Amino acid sequence: MGENHTRPLSEIEIRVKALETLLIEKGLVDPAAVDALIDTYEHKVGPRNGAKVVARAWTDPAYKQRLLADGTKAILELGYSGIQGEDMVVVENTPEVHNVLVCTLCSCYPWPTLGLPPVWYKSAPYRSRVVIDPRGVLKEFGTEVADEVKVKVWDSTAELRYMVLPERPAGTEGWSEAQLAELVSRDAMIGVAKVAAPGK
Ligand code: FE
Repeated sequence: MGENHTRPLSEIEIRVKALETLLIEKGLVDPAAVDALIDTYEHKVGPRNGAKVVARAWTDPAYKQRLLADGTKAILELGYSGIQGEDMVVVENTPEVHNVLVCTLCSCYPWPTLGLPPVWYKSAPYRSRVVIDPRGVLKEFGTEVADEVKVKVWDSTAELRYMVLPERPAGTEGWSEAQLAELVSRDAMIGVAKVAAPGK
């Protein structure tokens, strides 16, 4: 679990850490199995919640309005809430603005919608460089943002966790919510990637 600059570890987090350490020390679990489990939450289970939120916003304009007005409440409509998701702000990518997220102090991240933060998100180089040179960092992720598009960097604060609502790609007209959700990557919701048009 990532640390949280807003508060000490909760009792449950301390217990989870203690249990994990004990199980590994006793040889009852293989650290590789723990890593695999974390990987699953980082890439598969976690971000799928956020992907469903994005797909709903793409297909339901009223939901999108509610999501941008009060992220926490609208995300809860789909059943997602909890630690590090208590105060969510959803920022929308448009043809004029590209948003990207960071926690410059540590690794604050919206767990209920994105799962566990990737290692690079917690790394000092990402945290410092994305603020100074967001376009350069985005380029390293293979994401080109045109000069006329404004890049906004959102730094998680004591109160807020952000999530990016990416642009819906062309060529997805008439797609179902479930089909659209499949297209949405974790990185697109952090803002270091765009959602690619299908077949690209
Ligand atoms: Fe933090």
